[in-house]
Amino acid sequence: MSAHRLPHPIARLHDLAQNPWWSWRLDARRLFEAIDPVLWFHCHHNPVLLLQSVNPERLTALATDPGFARQYSAVIKAFDEYRSDRRTWFATRYATLTNFQVAYMSAEFGFHNSIPIYSGGLGILAGDHCKEASDLGLPLIGLGFMYPQGYFRQSITPDGWQEAEYAPFNRDESPINPALTPEGTPCHISVEMGGRQVSATIWKVQIGRIPIYLLDTDVPNNAPEDRGLSARLYGGGQEMRLCQEILLGLGGVRALRALGLNPTVWHANEGHSAFLTLERLREHVRAGLTHSEAVEAVRHSTVFTTHTPVPAGHDVFPLDLMERYFNGYWDQLGLTRSAFFRLGEHPDHPGAGFNMTALAMRLSAHVNGVSREHGRVTRQMWQSLWPGLSEDLIPIRSITNGVHVPTWIAPELHQLYSKYLSPDWVDRSDDPAIWQRVPDIPDADLWAVRQLMKRKLMSFIRERARGGWAEGRLLASQVLSRGTMLDPEALTIGFARRFATYKRATLLFRDLERLRRLLHDRWRPVQIVFAGKAHPADEPGRQFIHQVLSYCHDHKLAGHIAFLENYDMHMAKYLVQGVDVWLNTPRAPMEASGTSGQKATLNGVLHLSVLDGWWQEGYDGSNGWGIPPSSHLQDPAAEDDLDSKELYRLLEEEVIPLYYQRDLDGVPRAWLQVVKQSIRTNAPRFSARRMVKEYMDLVYAPASTKAPSSW
Ligand SMILES: *Cc1c(COP(=O)(O)O)cnc(C)c1O
Repeated sequence: MSAHRLPHPIARLHDLAQNPWWSWRLDARRLFEAIDPVLWFHCHHNPVLLLQSVNPERLTALATDPGFARQYSAVIKAFDEYRSDRRTWFATRYATLTNFQVAYMSAEFGFHNSIPIYSGGLGILAGDHCKEASDLGLPLIGLGFMYPQGYFRQSITPDGWQEAEYAPFNRDESPINPALTPEGTPCHISVEMGGRQVSATIWKVQIGRIPIYLLDTDVPNNAPEDRGLSARLYGGGQEMRLCQEILLGLGGVRALRALGLNPTVWHANEGHSAFLTLERLREHVRAGLTHSEAVEAVRHSTVFTTHTPVPAGHDVFPLDLMERYFNGYWDQLGLTRSAFFRLGEHPDHPGAGFNMTALAMRLSAHVNGVSREHGRVTRQMWQSLWPGLSEDLIPIRSITNGVHVPTWIAPELHQLYSKYLSPDWVDRSDDPAIWQRVPDIPDADLWAVRQLMKRKLMSFIRERARGGWAEGRLLASQVLSRGTMLDPEALTIGFARRFATYKRATLLFRDLERLRRLLHDRWRPVQIVFAGKAHPADEPGRQFIHQVLSYCHDHKLAGHIAFLENYDMHMAKYLVQGVDVWLNTPRAPMEASGTSGQKATLNGVLHLSVLDGWWQEGYDGSNGWGIPPSSHLQDPAAEDDLDSKELYRLLEEEVIPLYYQRDLDGVPRAWLQVVKQSIRTNAPRFSARRMVKEYMDLVYAPASTKAPSSW
């Protein structure tokens, strides 16, 4: 809504709603909630929409309400202080580093549900990275796409199949605004693609102190196909994907130039943006550098993070397609056709196509994987790029992922930590000393908060099902499969993530009889909540969803299994805060890191997972449960057998008995011991604060110093 509709005394609610900083501030969230708690729930915590929809009389009343005025002034003051703070971590530690700026390029960013430009883990990691950079005062700018149709909305048919719906989202209900050039005019760029000019306009989202710029090809002077180029995240075929990546890499660099920006470090978050290296080569060659000088200049200042060992996660474009789009461009890099193709050649598969990961690795001096184990696997996978070098000398490091703590912490637990750890615990979330005080939290208080978080999840589940029923969208069987029979007293296991087959969502169903006995135990019942989308083109992933839905509908499992439709950040918060156990069953070593388990452990949920990704370094034998990977078997069916047997054993012998072992007051003290151990050991290490500081110290700082050479 336009600011002038707001009564003068509370007019700055508009500014606040336009900066998702509010979303990781408890007091700011409370402020919006206080405007209209019911509407706040129905708007899915979207303050832009809330301010548009709220009754004007309510706003008038609030403008003269002294209680609201106090709350309002305190939040606005904190907001202004946050943005003008000169004593940040970065400013203190890097006082001598001048002109430093990181350009962080990513195909998706997950900031908040009201900005639907993410699909899953990669985007949410990017969002958490930017939020933390903002909190630390690290000068970073983000660059990605404005997807007018976002990622798809998942709906489940009555017979249990996923359907994908794309709908244009209303930008007026999002904190997205036109980006302006230094002259104050709207910003446009254009990129040549296969003989035609494609234009893009640039939008801006302000995340705390960090601006994020978004490319959008839906502009009138583009051909219809080009207008749709950036419509969807990961939609379309290979050629559209290539065009998107050209736009992100080449167009992204041009957009930042048009905005008058001059980053000193360029960070490609995954291979999608790796073409940025080519555009910067072109700039250097045009400025008079030889090709090899230009390569050195680009390499020195480029950071590349790879996110998956799964082959399908690495883009490889056919050479004839590359030829069509880059013919003529390679001359501008001072390269011949074959030298250009060599930049994207996988050394083990010459001629197999143009590999974006290979390109990024060749043109970045700073390459990292996202957990210790993933670093090791990546060195092994890409060893042939460094012929003659032994695996442990391959220059690929690891920086383990972490989560933005104020985004993912439950409000109730936030308060408990404020009371027992430190009032400023959020600003010190990576300091293990703070977390040494976790044992001081009284068991009864911790248990009461955990139970409250679970009841909130259950009512979230119930109200969504009720809404679908009330609107006549759902059959009775669907209302049940959405979890309306779940019991807030029963041990609740959560499994929510992308339905990629390597994540093995159906592992738990390998021995149905054994599972049934667990679920049905009269005195110690167990229930499981599933959620997640399969990429629409991933047929095996869709089959997995169908299979889980068939168990939800199976009378023999008696409503102990639920599947929640359309997993997104909003639902993720309820899930990672509300269940008792977070389950993760990837086929090792495919899970590069995983972050949902980190969100869960921060909230006192216990992690039960294959020892892969971050859990390989997080698990210490006393802070959750680990299933040793059986990948040595090299036979998927045998692996599934062994892993599922260990999973059942852990549930039967350890997880369930511990949960139901109660004192006379009903508090499971032994369970809470493990919860406390889990919070104490995992929370500081797997925080985005620790992660972004490592990026700064280990890669951004070295990448930003002038290299000892002519440029
Ligand atoms: C955290 C999160 C993910 C990533 O979860 P993984 O454990 O890394 O698979 C995906 N989707 C949403 C909505 C999330 O919040």
